[in-house]
Amino acid sequence: MIKRKIPFAHAKSIYDVDLSFFKKHGIKVVLTDLDNTLAPIYQKDADEKVFDLVKRYKEAGLRLIIVSNNTGKRVKRFSAELGIENACWMLKPLSLRLKKFLKKQKIDKSEVILVGDQILTDIMAGNGAKIKTLLTEPLVPEDPIWTRWNRFFEKPTRKKLLAKHIVKEWEETL
Ligand SMILES: [Mg+2]
Repeated sequence: MIKRKIPFAHAKSIYDVDLSFFKKHGIKVVLTDLDNTLAPIYQKDADEKVFDLVKRYKEAGLRLIIVSNNTGKRVKRFSAELGIENACWMLKPLSLRLKKFLKKQKIDKSEVILVGDQILTDIMAGNGAKIKTLLTEPLVPEDPIWTRWNRFFEKPTRKKLLAKHIVKEWEETL
């Protein structure tokens, strides 16, 4: 399997990951994908679940940033509601914009993780930028139209990663 497709760890969802995971790996910045990682595509506004997550991270001193391929409008609306930072039009799986962002923000690569529900965009971009990555399952079956092909193509890779235990569950890394 291509190394760039192998995440650092796997979780059912970002909401399942205990903060001890980030602490254990020296993570201070969490970059999260928006669509189907933080919220379903049809959800226009942040709900209580997301607010709770943001609150937990803030209290733990973790910096949470939305890093999305989606348009500025949707991403900015979400991050404004939540009072967190964002970077949109990231062109994942390319890692160029991600690398530039990390450099500009002076984020240490060893202290950051990218969380996302897609191997072909999130995981490949994160690995390309040489940072840790956490693969999640999509929150809901509904995908944005531009994601459907990727989802189809990444299916065998995801299956193999999990079935052959190529990727560890987040709890196993504690
Ligand atoms: Mg996504």
